[in-house]
Amino acid sequence: MLVFIDPGHGGDDLGAVSGDLVEKHLTLQIAREVDTALRRGYVVETVLTRTADTSVSLYKRVRRANDARCHLFLSLHVNAGGGTGFESYIYPRAFEPTVNIRRVIHAEVVSFLRPLGITDRGMKTADFYVLRATAMPAVVLESLFLDHPQDAARLRDPAFISGYARAVARGVGEALRLPVKDADAEKDALIAQLQAEVDRLRRALKNIRNEAENAL
Ligand SMILES: [Zn+2]
Repeated sequence: MLVFIDPGHGGDDLGAVSGDLVEKHLTLQIAREVDTALRRGYVVETVLTRTADTSVSLYKRVRRANDARCHLFLSLHVNAGGGTGFESYIYPRAFEPTVNIRRVIHAEVVSFLRPLGITDRGMKTADFYVLRATAMPAVVLESLFLDHPQDAARLRDPAFISGYARAVARGVGEALRLPVKDADAEKDALIAQLQAEVDRLRRALKNIRNEAENAL
């Protein structure tokens, strides 16, 4: 499976700006974290439509995704203009695989955001170029509002960004049924770690017992 991760804007195109927050930087930061989380967690190939602060036309982004015949085009944006929360977009006449993939990703992200009190603005449709012109399922995520004080505080928090990115990656993994990477290896490592801790506690207990016996 090949996933195109598309950090919105870049270069001359700043996207939304509010104070020190610039959409083109946030989208790249989120995209990098999504990329890392995806490749760490799943057997999957990824391509970022840009990896630096460069201008890439929408036409070029879509053309590359179409040429590569990727399985998902995931475009990451940050909202602005007087709202708060998260929303996702697909093309109004999207086919069933897209509807389903978006539903799964949206649900996974919301399950991360809801406990933090962040608004779910819903699953929406729009005639965006990247949704219309892509030949594969395409989803746009609008990740909070950079001009909303509480959302902005979240977007400045690296822990929030990586938690959000991991939720997006989980959604993509589940939606595309990507094979989980080394789940058994991770489980074995955890068991080994617990066993070492049990051994350590046993030794500590033995020492305490010896000391108590010596004291008598
Ligand atoms: Zn944008």
